Amino acid sequence: MKHRVFSGTRPTGRQHLGNYLGALQNYVSLQNDYDCVYCIVDIHALTSLENTDQLQKNIHEMMLDWLAAGLDPRKSILFVQSHVPEVMELHTLLGMVTPLSWLLRVPTFKEKAKLQPHNVNYGLVGYPVLMTADIVLYKAEFIPVGEDQLPHIELAREIARRFNSLFGNTFPEPEAKLTSVPLVLGLDGKEKMSKQLGNDIEMALSPEETIERVMTAVTDPARRYRADPGHPEICNVYRLHQYFNPDQVDDIAEQCRTAKIGCVDCKRLLAERINSALAPFRERRMALATKPQYIADVLADGAQQARAIAKETLREVKQKMGLV
Ligand code: SF4
Repeated sequence: MKHRVFSGTRPTGRQHLGNYLGALQNYVSLQNDYDCVYCIVDIHALTSLENTDQLQKNIHEMMLDWLAAGLDPRKSILFVQSHVPEVMELHTLLGMVTPLSWLLRVPTFKEKAKLQPHNVNYGLVGYPVLMTADIVLYKAEFIPVGEDQLPHIELAREIARRFNSLFGNTFPEPEAKLTSVPLVLGLDGKEKMSKQLGNDIEMALSPEETIERVMTAVTDPARRYRADPGHPEICNVYRLHQYFNPDQVDDIAEQCRTAKIGCVDCKRLLAERINSALAPFRERRMALATKPQYIADVLADGAQQARAIAKETLREVKQKMGLV
């Protein structure tokens, strides 16, 4: 039997290159060796969303990207968190075994509270409990994460462990499946690529739009004139060449250092490489976009599969807690 992997992603809409390199391509490769459960966590999004007008559109666009990138509903369970209401029930039950002090010390809670002081809602502090419910509801054993997510997984393990010690062995303690998640910086070359910061390159852009976006990228600030030698190791365009143009990176580094290539040509080459790498994805996406019912069916079918597992787990939990 294959081991089960779970991952939840906020419904941020169209995916950008940072999403692709940091998570999506890994999700696709895991589905061959694991029993994968991939969830769009719309309830988590409500902790910081004050306007939900775009929520359904974002879920649809994100699923289009996931499917076009190679996630296969015949191999993985793909669904939306709120379509499996059992997760909210388990969240409440796990809340009874989770000391408040564990939640208050979570650094992301403090950061979020600072970011939105006008909206420090219960969901922000209870977020790790809901996240644990997401994972253990499916008895997932592995969670693909980058190192920055390790404290969250540790807390999920602690909650699962505490439940097991109080009510008997029920949940596997989820383990982080560390992936070498590259830090993909945005076009500003400073911050992580992010839709919110507007420094991203969406996968679904047209080739022309991609060229336009790449041409705005910040490069080596020391290269003010075409004849100035560059420092590729500090240039984000060069970093992206490493992912999309691996065969030419050594040449580009050499040409940059000796000023044989200018930043304009270097960016144009990168945009071409990104466009050719994403061409099959974009073709599949355009075809899928003409079938909105298919996307809805994939999500409905995924929710049905997820609920079958969830109901079974919840029945066991309630029994062990003396609720039935
Ligand atoms: Fe960056 Fe390329 Fe310009 Fe060098 S030539 S600084 S690698 S964009």
